[in-house]
Amino acid sequence: QKFVYDFTEGNKDLKDLLGGKGANLAEMTNLGLPVPPGFTITTEACKVYLESGDAPTALRDEVSAHLKALEERMGKQLGQADDPLLVSVRSGAKFSMPGMMDTVLNIGLSDTSVAGLATQSGDERFAWDSYRRLIQMFGKTVLGVDGDLFEEALEAAKHAKKVTVDTDLAAADLKKLVKQFKKIVESEAGREFPQDAREQMDLAINAVFDSWNTDRAKLYRRQERIPGDLGTAVNVCSMVFGNLGPDSGTGVAFTRDPASGHQGVYGDYLQNAQGEDVVAGIRNTVPLADLESIDKKSYDQLMQIMETLENHYKDLCDIEFTIERGQLWMLQTRVGKRTAGAAFRIATQLVDQGLIDEAEALQRVNGAQLAQLMFPRFDDEAKTELLGRGIAASPGAAVGKAVFDSYTAIKWSRSGEKVILIRRETNPDDLEGMIAAEGILTSRGGKTSHAAVVARGMGKTCVCGAEDLEVDTKRRRMTVGGIVIEEGDLVSIDGSTGKVYRGEVPVVPSPVVEYFEGRMHAGADDADELVAAVHRIMAYADRVRRLRVRANADNAEDALRARRFGAQGIGLCRTEHMFLGERREMVEKLILADTDEERETALAALLPLQKADFIELFESMDGLPVTVRLLDPPLHEFLPDITELSVRVALAESRKDANENDLRLLQAVHKLHEQNPMLGLRGVRLGLVIPGLFAMQVRAIAEAAAQRKNAKGDPRAEIMIPLVGTVQELEIVREEADRVIEEVQAATGTDLKLTIGTMIELPRAALTAGQIAEAAQFFSFGTNDLTQTVWGFSRDDVEASFFTAYLEKGIFGVSPFETIDKDGVGSLVRSAVEAGRATRPDLKLGVCGEHGGDPESVHFFHEVGLDYVSCSPFRIPVARLEAGRAAA
Ligand code: PEP
Ligand code: MG
Repeated sequence: QKFVYDFTEGNKDLKDLLGGKGANLAEMTNLGLPVPPGFTITTEACKVYLESGDAPTALRDEVSAHLKALEERMGKQLGQADDPLLVSVRSGAKFSMPGMMDTVLNIGLSDTSVAGLATQSGDERFAWDSYRRLIQMFGKTVLGVDGDLFEEALEAAKHAKKVTVDTDLAAADLKKLVKQFKKIVESEAGREFPQDAREQMDLAINAVFDSWNTDRAKLYRRQERIPGDLGTAVNVCSMVFGNLGPDSGTGVAFTRDPASGHQGVYGDYLQNAQGEDVVAGIRNTVPLADLESIDKKSYDQLMQIMETLENHYKDLCDIEFTIERGQLWMLQTRVGKRTAGAAFRIATQLVDQGLIDEAEALQRVNGAQLAQLMFPRFDDEAKTELLGRGIAASPGAAVGKAVFDSYTAIKWSRSGEKVILIRRETNPDDLEGMIAAEGILTSRGGKTSHAAVVARGMGKTCVCGAEDLEVDTKRRRMTVGGIVIEEGDLVSIDGSTGKVYRGEVPVVPSPVVEYFEGRMHAGADDADELVAAVHRIMAYADRVRRLRVRANADNAEDALRARRFGAQGIGLCRTEHMFLGERREMVEKLILADTDEERETALAALLPLQKADFIELFESMDGLPVTVRLLDPPLHEFLPDITELSVRVALAESRKDANENDLRLLQAVHKLHEQNPMLGLRGVRLGLVIPGLFAMQVRAIAEAAAQRKNAKGDPRAEIMIPLVGTVQELEIVREEADRVIEEVQAATGTDLKLTIGTMIELPRAALTAGQIAEAAQFFSFGTNDLTQTVWGFSRDDVEASFFTAYLEKGIFGVSPFETIDKDGVGSLVRSAVEAGRATRPDLKLGVCGEHGGDPESVHFFHEVGLDYVSCSPFRIPVARLEAGRAAA
C-alpha cells in the first residue's frame, strides 16, 4: 500500500485517496500550471492513524523519501539553518469542509533558521513575521493552545507601538513577540515549541489527521451528510510567500460569479499577505480586477490560467493563488460552490458553450437547489427602512430577531423564535448558531469569508461585509447611522441583493414558483434568465426520466396546482381529509350508531358529499390517474379528546345536567380508546368491522366516475386499500367493492375500468407481497407507516423525543422519515417489488409516503424500478428533476 503521492503522480479523479485539494493540486501540476512542488499523504494513512492511534511506520519512511526528493528538487533542506526549505501542512478531505480542519504554514522555521530566512529573503521583518505565524498556528492547532492568547499578545504589541495593522510592526517588535509566543506555548502546552523541523512536520501531520474528528468537523459532516469514515488527506507543499512586500500578495478568484453565474473577473486580492488572511476576512481586500493595475503580468497570467481551468474542468472553478515577488503560484483549485440560481444558469451556459451535454447539465444541479429557488423573496413594493448594504453572499429572504452570539441564536431558536445571527465575522465556533439562525449577517469579510462560504454550503441566507453596521457583540447591539438595533429587534436581510432592513419586510413568491404556476410575467431580467435556465433543465429532466410523478392531493385546488407543477396524476387522495370540519359530526353519528338503521342513515348522509368531492377531483385530473385511498385513520381521531370530554361530563354530572349525547359519546370514546392507536383499529380493519363504510366510499367513487364519464370526461380512478397485512383482508374488501362497482356500472350503463390495489405499509405486507399481488392490481408503498413499523419508531413522537440524540450520535445522518433507509425499509421495498411483479407482471408500482419527494429517495425508487413517485404538490418539480437526474 502506497501512502504518499507526489503532486506529479496524482490526478483529479483520485479524490477518495488524495482528497479534493490533493487531487486538484496534482491535476494542475500535470497541466503544467505553476504549483509549488509537494506531496500528498493519502486518506488511507489517515484511516490507519485514526484506527490505531499512531501513524503507520511505512508512512514515516515514505514521507522521508518524498521529503528527500523535494529537498533535492528545491536545492535546500527542511529547516536548513542558512537557507531553510519551508513547507505548509494542510488538510484536504474528499469533500471540502471550509475552515473545519487544520493548516500549519511555515514549518521548518526555528530560532536558527529564522536568521537564514532573513538573509535569503533580505527581509528580516518578513522572516520574524513568518516565525511568529508558525508558532501561533502550530501552538493553536497542533498543541491545542487557546488562540486568543496569541491574538491578545499581538494586539498588545500593536497597541504598544500605537499601530493598527500588523504590517506596521517592525522586526524588533516581532522578535519580542516570538519570545512571548514561545512562553505562551511553554506555559499552556507544557512543552517547548519544537525546534526540530521534522518533528514540527510530523506533529502537524498527526494534528491534521486528528482534526478529522473534532466536534465541529463532526457536526459539519452530519449537516452536510458527509460520511464520518472517509478521513482526510494531508498536503505537504513547499512554501511560497505572499507577504514579502508590496510586489507580493494572495488572493482568491472564481472563473464565474458564484452568485449569478455570469462570466467575468470575480475574486479578492490582498497585497503583502499570507495564507488564510483573505478567507479569514482579517484585513480588507481589493477586488481582483485591481490586480491588473498592481501587477499586470501576474494578472494576465492568472486570467489565462483561469480560462485553462474552466475549459479543463468544464465548470466554475475557484482558485487560491499567491504572488511572490511578481511570480504567480497556484495553491488550490476546485470546482467551486455556487448559489442555487447560479447552478442552473451555469449548467445551461456550459451547454451553450458546447462544453457539456444535457445529461451532464442535469448532474450539475439538484433538487435541493431547485427547492431553494422556490423560496419566497422580499416584496419590492413594500415600504422598507434600509439599514445598510453588504455583499449578497447567499440568497434568500430572511426575517428574524437580532442576536449577537451563537449561544443566544441556539437558545432562542429552540424556543421557536426566528433569529438573525449578527456577527462582526464568523468562525467555525459559530457553526451551531448559524444552523439555528434564519440568516447570517456580518459586518466584515467578502464573498469568500467564512460566513459566506459556510452559509452558501448550508443554503442559508447570508449578507456579509456590511461595513456600515457597527456590531458590538459585547453590548449585544449594532448601530448604523444614528439607529441602534438591540438584541431582539426585528431585522430582514436579503441574501440576493445584500440589503439589510430594519423590521419585518413582507415576502413574495419566487419567480421560479411563478413560472411553474404559469404566472411568470416578464419582469426583472435577472429573474427571466433564471426562469429560462430552470425551464430548460426541467425539459431535459422530463425528456429522460422514467419515473412518473404524481401528487398527494385531496382537493381540486391542490390537484390543479399539482398539474401546473407537472403532476401526472394523483398518487394519494387521503379521504379522511374529506371528513373534517362540519362533516366531523356526521362521522360521529356513524360511530355512535347503535342499530343498522342508524348506521345506514349516517352513511347515506355521507355518500353525496363524498361523491361531490370525487367529481371535482376527477374533473381536475381529467385523463390522469387518481388513486383514492379508503378511510385510514383510527376513529377516535374524529371524536372529542377523552380527557376533555371526561371533565365536561363529570362537571355536568355534578351539576346533575349531563346530556344524553355526551354520555353516549364518552362511552364510545372509552370503547374506542387504544393504547397504540397507530397499531389499532384503522385502515382495512375499519372496512372489515364497520359494515357499509368502505362500500359507501366505493359507491361514491364509482358513481362520481360514472357521472364524469357520462359528461364526456375521462376519469381514471384507482381504489386503494390501506394498511393491509395479509391477502385475506384484501380479498374480503375486494369482493364487496367489485359487487358495488358492478351495481353502479349496471345502473349507469358505464364501463368504469376501476382498478383496486393496496398500500404496502406493513412489514408483513412487504414480506408476503407475492400473495398480496394476487388480489391487488397495484401497490403503493406507504413508506411513512412502513418506516414506523420496520423501525418501531412512532412517526408522531420520535422527532421531538430522541432523534436529536440519534443524529448527534451519528446513528443516522438524516431521519429515516425524511430519506428512505435503504438498507432496512428499502430492502423490503425492493423484495416486495420483485415478489409482486413475479406474481403479476403488469402490477403497477408507486410510492406515496413523504419519501416520494425526497431527492435521495427518488433515486432509490428509480433504481428499484417503481413506475411513479407521489409527493406533495410543492415538491413535484423537485421529484421531476431528481427522476431525470436518476435516469440521465
Ligand atoms: C404512508 O404511510 O406512507 C402513507 C402515505 O400513508 P399515511 O401517511 O396517510 O399514513
Ligand atoms: Mg400510512
